[in-house]
Amino acid sequence: MKNYIKADEWNIIEEGFDPVLNKISESIFSIGNGHMGQRANFEEAYSGDTLQGNYIAGVYYPDKTRVGWWKNGYPENFAKVLNAANWIGIDITIGKEKLDLDLNHCRVFDFKRVLNMREGYLQRSFKAELPNGKQVAVNAKRFCSIADEEAGAIAYTITPLNFDGELAITAYIDGDIVNQDSNYDEKFWDHINSEAQNQDAFLTLKTKKTAFEVCTGSRIIAYQDAKLVNTCFSPIVKEKYIGTSFSVQAKQGQETVIYKYAANVSSQNYDTENLLPACKNVIDRISSKGFERLLAEQAAAWKIKWDESDILIEGDVAAQQGIRFNIFQLCQTYTGKDDRLNIGPKGFTGEKYGGSTYWDTEAYCVPFYLATAPQQVAKNLLIYRYKQLGKAIENATKLGFNNGAALYPMVTMTGEECHNEWEITFEEIHRNGAIAYAIFNYIRYTGDKDYLNDYGLEVLIAIARFWSQRVNWSKAKHRFVIMGVTGPNEYENNVNNNWYTNNIACWCMEYAAEAVKHVKQSSPEKYDTLAERISFNEIEETSFWNHISENMYFPKDETRDIFLQQDEFLDKEIIPAKELNPQERPLNQHWSWDRILRSCYIKQADVLQGIYFFNEKYDIETIQRNYNFYEPLTVHESSLSPCVHAIIASRIGAESDAYKFYLRTARLDLDDYNNDTEDGLHITSMAGTWMSVVEGFAGMHIKDDRLRFNPFLPVQWRSYSFNISFRNTLINVKVDTDGIYLSNRSANDISVDVFDETYLMKAGTQVFAMHKVKV
Ligand code: BGC
Repeated sequence: MKNYIKADEWNIIEEGFDPVLNKISESIFSIGNGHMGQRANFEEAYSGDTLQGNYIAGVYYPDKTRVGWWKNGYPENFAKVLNAANWIGIDITIGKEKLDLDLNHCRVFDFKRVLNMREGYLQRSFKAELPNGKQVAVNAKRFCSIADEEAGAIAYTITPLNFDGELAITAYIDGDIVNQDSNYDEKFWDHINSEAQNQDAFLTLKTKKTAFEVCTGSRIIAYQDAKLVNTCFSPIVKEKYIGTSFSVQAKQGQETVIYKYAANVSSQNYDTENLLPACKNVIDRISSKGFERLLAEQAAAWKIKWDESDILIEGDVAAQQGIRFNIFQLCQTYTGKDDRLNIGPKGFTGEKYGGSTYWDTEAYCVPFYLATAPQQVAKNLLIYRYKQLGKAIENATKLGFNNGAALYPMVTMTGEECHNEWEITFEEIHRNGAIAYAIFNYIRYTGDKDYLNDYGLEVLIAIARFWSQRVNWSKAKHRFVIMGVTGPNEYENNVNNNWYTNNIACWCMEYAAEAVKHVKQSSPEKYDTLAERISFNEIEETSFWNHISENMYFPKDETRDIFLQQDEFLDKEIIPAKELNPQERPLNQHWSWDRILRSCYIKQADVLQGIYFFNEKYDIETIQRNYNFYEPLTVHESSLSPCVHAIIASRIGAESDAYKFYLRTARLDLDDYNNDTEDGLHITSMAGTWMSVVEGFAGMHIKDDRLRFNPFLPVQWRSYSFNISFRNTLINVKVDTDGIYLSNRSANDISVDVFDETYLMKAGTQVFAMHKVKV
């Protein structure tokens, strides 16, 4: 755990330059806009330890799978998000010496990095002394524009501190980049075209195999004393590299400001012959506006995002900074404008997890976007899976299923499975359930039942068909069973009757059968067309689904009266995690895989994940018993774990536990809790942090089409408040020591439940409910 980020409500601040922390900071200070994003690498040269990272959403490479023992059904490829051309580079040379912040090359002082979350930009300032004794001060500000998503801009100000002389400057775009995680050290980009003229440079690269083309362009405009620098700008053209070189004479104390306007346009959005003109257009557009106006647009766009999604915490700056950081990074990663895009567990902040889509999106991210962004944003996440249904059916067919059964991939870019650990690829099939659950959740939240008619039903039928073929009848148990799975707890493989999986499988089949009824009734024509297209035998199929779910086997321990994570779980040696040697944690970094599998330790919520999804079905005592049994065995070695525990702990009134888990998720990356922030941020679990406050502390949930709250205030806080949009109303929720205030900030009336009482909130009014007295 680290503790070097300064507490501040709106900014992430690092003071002083420590190369050991550099890769962690590169992740933390990442910027992005849904279309592209980058780690906080330096503009000027840095030969110290760094992970270079510039990413364009959706641009990936199917790297060859590398496994020793090939098994039938393994995917051929592992998709990875590609490190794309580095567009931020600005080399500075003074008296033949290059400014390189590696401490072996120069002395760096007064270093400060600030991520301004309110307005959406990264600022870095420092002073440096080169080996020739020349000192400069640098102040660099940059952002990826939320308002104009193909655009980025940098204002780089350099000032000689103890000399008058020449500054030789090369602003460049470097396409000769690698992925750190590439197998065989392969490079993934081919050079297509470069063009440089005066202050402009354009580089077009094409990905191998997938043939994405990306044109990256820049225009350099420099000022001294508010006067345009009018000098000779010379192009530098090399293989996969293009630059603009110029020099200026600067006096001691005189600022030179270099504006670098940049654009990334990709063949996902243009025909390849139009890429270069499109890139030039963006550059013309943004450079004519100028940096300050672009920055003002950026601040305005962020203001809208913050108005929709901010959580305000009074009385705890570290918690405030933590929650805003999570919301900021989520809004930078996914904007919901393009239904071909999704949310990689690391977003644009690192290579790990290949930038691919996991069940994280449906299980964790959808609730955040549902409540904090226009409806289309979450809907596009659902459409993404809808469009990949064909591939999910192909995937299931490859594994031996038939009749249009679909198994969505555990890890994907295009709909094809691209992960190759058999225990995950073939066995972690519960992901199908999360995809169905997201449809249910979206409709429950928005009331948009037409989604079922237009898209949802087809997905639900294909998923139900999968489950109905994946179960088998056990003569011994006289029940249906599901053998050989991995549940959400990946520290168990190939188990039988994982309670979570059996539970969500049944729910999927029941929900699909209900959806069939709904569509048949509300849109008979659409229903008939679909049924015919997919050869759906309604009576036979739905009655089999219902029969399975009525006769499913669920492991249970009668003595403790708890659901059993899987068959034979209690044969394990059950010793609470708190008795583990702290030196051996996290277990996945200290124990052999075999030892982990044999142990009782749980990586992340499993039974409790099921209870979280369907919590209305269980009474408080049942939830309590299961929480009290499973939480002590849980090591929370997935970042997705603490948030679910925070929500369940809130539900059963274990408030200090809830707060403990909240803290662990909210500052996971800022404090490098798991010692892995340098690989990138845990973007998908950030949505879980939001859930911890809104669904946990405030107890927000929807039942019978109505929004309900069951709030408490952590003793560490004076108050917290947030906005949510729900069915065309914008509601502000504030919880303080007295109770909960709900303000209807829209033109529609709405009824809400607080502590089981219903309040009618007229448009523009506020209601208040006191906290319940605790007994
Ligand atoms: C978790 C999975 C998750 C993946 C990506 C793993 O560590 O166990 O549940 O989908 O990370 O976040």
